[in-house]
Amino acid sequence: MQNIAIIGGGHAGAQAAASLRADGFDGRLVLVSAENELPYHRPPLSKAFIKGEDDATQELRPALFYEKNGVELLLGRTVEAIDRDAGRLVLDDGELPFDGLVLATGARVRVPPVPGINMANVFLLRTVDDARRLKQRLAEAHDVVVVGGGFIGLELAATARILGKTVTVLEAAPRLMGRVVAPAISAYFLDLHRTLGATVRLETPVASLVGENGAVVAVEAASGERIPADTVIVGVGVVPNIEIAEAAGLHVANGIVVDEAMRTSDPRIVAAGDAVSFHHWALGRPVRLESVQNAVDQAKTASATLLGKAQPYRAVPWFWSDQGDAKLQMVGLSMDADSSVPRGDPASGSFSVFHYQGDRLVAIDSVNRATDHMLGRRWLAAGFSPPREAVADESVDLKTVMPKV
Ligand SMILES: Cc1cc2nc3c(=O)[nH]c(=O)nc-3n(C[C@H](O)[C@H](O)[C@H](O)COP(=O)(O)OP(=O)(O)OC[C@H]3O[C@@H](n4cnc5c(N)ncnc54)[C@H](O)[C@@H]3O)c2cc1C
Repeated sequence: MQNIAIIGGGHAGAQAAASLRADGFDGRLVLVSAENELPYHRPPLSKAFIKGEDDATQELRPALFYEKNGVELLLGRTVEAIDRDAGRLVLDDGELPFDGLVLATGARVRVPPVPGINMANVFLLRTVDDARRLKQRLAEAHDVVVVGGGFIGLELAATARILGKTVTVLEAAPRLMGRVVAPAISAYFLDLHRTLGATVRLETPVASLVGENGAVVAVEAASGERIPADTVIVGVGVVPNIEIAEAAGLHVANGIVVDEAMRTSDPRIVAAGDAVSFHHWALGRPVRLESVQNAVDQAKTASATLLGKAQPYRAVPWFWSDQGDAKLQMVGLSMDADSSVPRGDPASGSFSVFHYQGDRLVAIDSVNRATDHMLGRRWLAAGFSPPREAVADESVDLKTVMPKV
């Protein structure tokens, strides 16, 4: 293999570049990214970045890394098409040959079909440019309405409250972060945001954004109620960037479909990260995961596969979210759990929910309780399930329950 191209300079693309070199690829390696920045950490954008003075990104690796490792960066450039027959990428301003290709195109913010969504003071957050615009706006904002009670919306809601803004969160579902966390966790965060001073409205879908002179002045709920707003932040999920893969005839279905070694339906092309749909070994069905861990670990697998060292992807999923002074950490996937065991008291501000399917531990959600989370990562990787009685009993030191091998 002489020429490997990587499309996308997010967490997956940058990791693929590093892994390909670390795994011994010594041909031409080019990373094309539509963003103008060196690959950077995305999670801080809804956390420290909005509060901080600094408008610079936190780079994943310094410029010198790419230079020293012979990774050509084409920043601010877009791949418009993949010509598989000719083995070349069609860029917005040129072409690039490839005999191996990594698709790390990520996802973009979902724009809900709500009237008024395109008005000037409506903000979506995916890139550092989005974050810079939002930060500038928040300096002047008074009445902030956050549409969507998911991770990003809630992180921003907490920050806006800390900055002294009036904040209303509108969530269509009956509980916060309802798709991914246990009810006890949703309840804890509802209380936390209300204590911070935000108004949180559940089961409140948005009907339209009401404007005057092209700027939002209120958000209208489906009930007809109008909530005053000079700034609207919309965080209702993402859609995977699959279009160029689909146009190239690769198999896509809610993501670029890959096998367990991250190969697309063309074995010269691998894919990793938010854009990817893969058959999950434990769930027994396809999933698309949106996390830094998944992007990085899939990129490692994808790179090895491209270099002929394929291994099945088996990394334990984990994720975190910082809201106010609370750190939420999740490990495993809880969607197929049929029971749960609480550990610790939510009133203490430090507790976990252990999710089981039968007697098998499948996930742990933890609030301000890093030890449970770290144990969970180790246990799930080892396929170990702690007995429920031990989990429920706070006097048991969980570090001692897994037999030593
Ligand atoms: C505000 C925010 C906060 C987050 N917080 C957390 C968190 O706390 N914990 C966590 O685990 N995850 C968090 N995430 C999710 C995490 O950032 C993503 O899961 C991760 O970035 C996925 O990496 P990726 O490389 O697959 O995609 P992305 O990071 O989306 O990168 C894809 C890149 O590809 C580029 N691209 C796409 N198509 C083309 C093309 N045709 N040509 C050229 N370039 C292209 C895009 O412009 C983009 O730069 C957060 C995300 C956001 C937006």
